[in-house]
Amino acid sequence: IKASVIDGDKFDVLPGEVPEKSMEKSALEILQEDRKTLPIYPYRDELLQAVQEYQVLVIVGETGSGKTTQIPQYLHEAGYTKQGKVGCTQPRRVAAMSVAARVSQEMGVKLGHEVGYSIRFEDCTSEKTILKYMTDGMLLREILSEPNLASYSVLMVDEAHERTLSTDILFGLLKDLIKFRSDLKLLISSATLDAEKFSDYFGSAPIFKIPGRRYPVEIHYTKAPEADYIDAAIVTVLQIHVTQSPGDILVFLTGQEEIETAEEILKHRMRGLGTKIAELIICPIYANLPTELQSKIFEPTPEGARKVVLATNIAETSLTIDGIKYVIDPGFSKVKSYNPRTGMESLLINPISKASAMQRAGRSGRTGPGKCFRLYTLYNFHKDMDDNAVPEIQRTNLANVVLILKSLGIDDLVNFDFIDPPPAESLIKALELLFALSALNKLGELTKVGRRMAEFPLDPMLSKMIVASDKYKCSDEVITIAAMLSIGNSIFYRPKDKQVHADNARMNFHLGNVGDHIALLRVYNSWRECNYATQWCYENYIQVRSMKRARDIRDQLEGLLERVEIEITSNMNELDVIKKAITSGFFPHSAKLQKNGSYATVKHPQRVHIHPSSGLAQILPRWVVYHELVLTTKEYMRQVTELKPEWLVEIAPHYYQLKDVEDRMSMSPSSLPLMCLSVFVFV
Ligand code: ADP
Ligand code: MG
Repeated sequence: IKASVIDGDKFDVLPGEVPEKSMEKSALEILQEDRKTLPIYPYRDELLQAVQEYQVLVIVGETGSGKTTQIPQYLHEAGYTKQGKVGCTQPRRVAAMSVAARVSQEMGVKLGHEVGYSIRFEDCTSEKTILKYMTDGMLLREILSEPNLASYSVLMVDEAHERTLSTDILFGLLKDLIKFRSDLKLLISSATLDAEKFSDYFGSAPIFKIPGRRYPVEIHYTKAPEADYIDAAIVTVLQIHVTQSPGDILVFLTGQEEIETAEEILKHRMRGLGTKIAELIICPIYANLPTELQSKIFEPTPEGARKVVLATNIAETSLTIDGIKYVIDPGFSKVKSYNPRTGMESLLINPISKASAMQRAGRSGRTGPGKCFRLYTLYNFHKDMDDNAVPEIQRTNLANVVLILKSLGIDDLVNFDFIDPPPAESLIKALELLFALSALNKLGELTKVGRRMAEFPLDPMLSKMIVASDKYKCSDEVITIAAMLSIGNSIFYRPKDKQVHADNARMNFHLGNVGDHIALLRVYNSWRECNYATQWCYENYIQVRSMKRARDIRDQLEGLLERVEIEITSNMNELDVIKKAITSGFFPHSAKLQKNGSYATVKHPQRVHIHPSSGLAQILPRWVVYHELVLTTKEYMRQVTELKPEWLVEIAPHYYQLKDVEDRMSMSPSSLPLMCLSVFVFV
């Protein structure tokens, strides 16, 4: 390790402040010692040698071996950052942030200076940044503004085994780019051993294996399937806590809501057990967890206490938490699923793959022998779980990447070099949607609207809604709505003991049954009128953190409006106009009330329901437009606004015909756009 890395002068010391040099040095020295104990360390020089020798290298090493945190530092120490940045992609935002924070500590620099990260709506980098961690989606967007990625000397596509949509598209683009940039090094790193596929794809690139250390893991199955896996997980945590030797626990849940529920119940039951039981420190980790709280999972557990980490599958391979000895695996994860026939997308809780189950179990055996409690039966493991997860590209809506590829001038999508091609149906559906949104013309070429839409790091329907707000002179309101929708469903706060108050406060924003979009807008505008006061949030049962994030996103969208030359205009007095702008983006998501109180989507009739959390759940308007579908016990529409059916024909005459919106609605979808575009796809 070069001395310069641990040089005290890299610290940010305010003038006049006396640095506690000896203290800081020793903390850094400890970190430097730790770096040398990682499984990757003995292979440092060999790895650098291989990077020098080959343009593309596939690197395989077990989770926790040090790939993500160490390789970029090795490259820096070897001088690669003199010619350009080292970029490292991560499929998950939290991983990009957390790993960047760790590496900045190890290098003794301030996060955002030499080491930074970039995720959607948050750029924590500066001119000084030489090691840049980012989501794969961000690198994809960077290619839009810098097609040859000239500012990079090395790119590391990390967690390649995750096979996210963005990673797969990056593969195709980078494979092409390296032909023109012989000076660019490309590293593909993966946690699992099926690296041959990456190697084959990149012209038999050499595979560099980092042998891992693994201790034996005892695997336990339940005797019968669990009806309620959250409850089963909580009971298992408490049993381990009371009966098993020291060691931390990692529980895999599917998302924020489950994690918060589990946290609450665990706290409650711990209180019930009295004071004789050792302390149980509960640490949640999920994508939207506020940054300040994320580092808590890495804090060492105090003597005598036990830590339980409640995580989404982010802890499967992206993050390594030291000290885990017990893993509880209910066997589920939340996945986006997409039906290319109907073009409908929905979030589902699905069984994980066998490969994921193995990864999860492995998390308990990193520093010593571990135990994994699977909350499913051995029979379920064999019968219900696929060997590997299906790559995202084969089960998702492709509209967003098709828009990006079109913006990059890649027109021949059928012959794009996909590592695994998407179903032709999904490609057609994406083209069809972009055509319906007027982002593409009949020949499949990008239009001016499409070019403007591509500037926004949002789903095409949201971008279209923003671009359309220009026409309706309500861009101020519409970017607020887009920002609030981007936060997810963590705006309203509903404490158990004050549910009635919280619900009343929430319904205030819905007065006049304006719909969920306008309610979100009212929340934001009221907060803005109160000068963004925290007190106002408390009084109205609104989450301050979510609002701050919404403000941040909104500011950025405002900046992007300027780039696409849309003026900020406000039209709060005419709600119908705002609703028309929303409909301009979301008309494919329209639904009509049925006799039994359910809804049928208009275009590809399917039974859906208004989510109980919607302000319109009791109102049941005849026609609605919704933001997204979520499948829990039923297929629910979340964030719903009332619509006048004639708007559909007015706004999207190429998509809806009068017969679609007549009251005795015909169920057959119009097939016009499909025909135009299929011709284009298959030529
Ligand atoms: P890999 O990418 O091979 O899975 P990493 O480089 O992520 O491995 O992890 C190497 C080590 O760094 C692990 O022991 C992990 O616990 C530690 N580490 C990574 N991120 C952090 C963090 N934010 N805080 C503390 N330790 C961390
Ligand atoms: Mg990693």
